[in-house]
Amino acid sequence: MLIDCHCHLDLYPEPAIVAASLAREPCLVLSVTTTPSAWRGTSALGASLSGVHTGLGLHPQLASERAGEFALMESLVGTAEFIGEVGLDGSPELQATWPIQLRLFESILDLATRAGGRVLSIHSRHAAGPVTSRLQSFPDAGTPILHWFSGTATELELAAKIGCWFSVGPAMLRSRAGRQLVQRMPRDRVLPETDGPFARDAAGKPLHPVNAKEVQAGVAELWGEPVEIVAARMDQGALAIRAKLHSVSLPLPSPYPAAPAGSTFGRKGHASPAG
Ligand code: MN
Repeated sequence: MLIDCHCHLDLYPEPAIVAASLAREPCLVLSVTTTPSAWRGTSALGASLSGVHTGLGLHPQLASERAGEFALMESLVGTAEFIGEVGLDGSPELQATWPIQLRLFESILDLATRAGGRVLSIHSRHAAGPVTSRLQSFPDAGTPILHWFSGTATELELAAKIGCWFSVGPAMLRSRAGRQLVQRMPRDRVLPETDGPFARDAAGKPLHPVNAKEVQAGVAELWGEPVEIVAARMDQGALAIRAKLHSVSLPLPSPYPAAPAGSTFGRKGHASPAG
């Protein structure tokens, strides 16, 4: 299965072409957004594709200019399959926005909790410790997937202990520090991502979701396991995450009659496991 747990479909120059390419094979693509106002349009990109799920996000790098969109996020959360990209960024150039980032991330975790929990795709650059401690303060926010984790080994250990998943991409696997972290990750909670089109391949070309397929082989080599074993484990993990996505009803395309009550026709998303 093609698994890309963190990509920005709406930010490719031709998003519809990238989305259409995902109709060719079974996939689980978590398409993240960076602002709540981008959510509707980005959702439409994946609306007809059963494997593409769109996240409601507010990127920490945009926290100060877009904090006003939190109200929109609040109004949309009931119809969002998952939340992301959200998180904290402790880079020096964002220091001035840190208090706003913290307030916003806590509000988002509280919102996720009030909504009954969501899968969350989380950015934690230079902020792994603060992200983990906020997740501990909101234990019912849902299932966190730390994307492109770059903290210390100790921070990784704590994140794993509190139940975080990790999405790992080709760009992370090219760095020595990234590979060392992957070696310490819980093997049943590692999933592929690309972070395309932001993340690039070795030649500088923006990654496409299909490039996430390289992750299984890269990780298998690091772990000293056959690629088939790693791929099968990641497929299982992807199914587990898919089962945790929030089930939502999307409007039917206009030529279709309204679905009879009780029918699942026209529904997209996946029911949560019972209980
Ligand atoms: Mn991203």
